[in-house]
Amino acid sequence: KAKLTRRGSHVIFESAIREELENRLTLESELALAADRGEFELFYQPQVRLVDASLVGAEALIRWRHPVRGYVSPGEFMPVVNSSALSERIGNWVMENACRQARAWELSGDRVRVAINLSPSQLQSGDLAHSVAGMLEATGLTPSLLELEVTEDILLHDEARVLDMFKRIQQLGVRVLFDDFGTGYASLSYLKKFPLDGLKIDRSFVFGLLADSDDAAIVGSTIGLSKQLGLTVVAEGIENRATADFLVSMGCEEGQGYFFGRPMPAEAFERQFLAAECAAVSAA
Ligand code: C2E
Ligand code: MG
Ligand code: MG
Ligand code: MG
Repeated sequence: KAKLTRRGSHVIFESAIREELENRLTLESELALAADRGEFELFYQPQVRLVDASLVGAEALIRWRHPVRGYVSPGEFMPVVNSSALSERIGNWVMENACRQARAWELSGDRVRVAINLSPSQLQSGDLAHSVAGMLEATGLTPSLLELEVTEDILLHDEARVLDMFKRIQQLGVRVLFDDFGTGYASLSYLKKFPLDGLKIDRSFVFGLLADSDDAAIVGSTIGLSKQLGLTVVAEGIENRATADFLVSMGCEEGQGYFFGRPMPAEAFERQFLAAECAAVSAA
């Protein structure tokens, strides 16, 4: 009897794996089709200087405009993209579109830094420094208006090669930040080795800032550490004024979060954040 049960669960286990594999393959081919059909879109979330809430930049965040399901968020499909052959293609698409948008804003007189997210798989093949340089040249974007967000775990593989690549990227004038800082595998020695312009404090620490003294301690020391190292520090996931005020009192310079604005289509971003700036300029 015991044998039968074990066999039974084995069969169930196997079919669960097969189903998951099939789902994955279906999603993968749907994503390839989506890329062909141009169903991906970039949303932009404002990044502000915390003391006066003035706009400093925007983070480009990918969305899949699914013909039936509507907007799908990256958490639902980027893990599949990043572990498939689509990673490079979609990564390039994101970079090209973000650079074009940033250049269009630059030409209209708004100096909005645009940040894009890189996945570790994008660094595995080819030379990212070379593609970034090519993209800057093709779009004419001022390099300091482009920011790359990478997670700490990019250094887990082929450290020497990745370090060299990012040194060349930084030499181009492009800014590089560690995203979700504090949640990855990086040891503090990475902060010394890696060519870095700033840290983004993960929103899991920012969320509980007012209520949890541990979170406050972690955020406070990250801000202190950044300053000592001469790095910009950006807090993500700011959802209310009290959190923003507390961050200012701790010396945090920049932030983003629903309190300042959700990720939104480029046109909405222009209307809400750039039109106001233009109006202020012409009124002065
Ligand atoms: P991330 O880079 O850490 O981006 C910040 C995420 O936090 C975004 O989720 C944003 O919508 C969300 N967020 C911002 N402010 C708040 C807030 O106040 N409260 C809360 N609860 N959430 C907030 P999103 O857009 O769903 O993106 C999730 C993740 O997907 C990103 O995390 C990033 O790791 C990845 N991702 C997004 N776009 C791209 C892309 O173009 N390429 C790559 N490789 N990854 C991307
Ligand atoms: Mg990010
Ligand atoms: Mg982040
Ligand atoms: Mg995060």
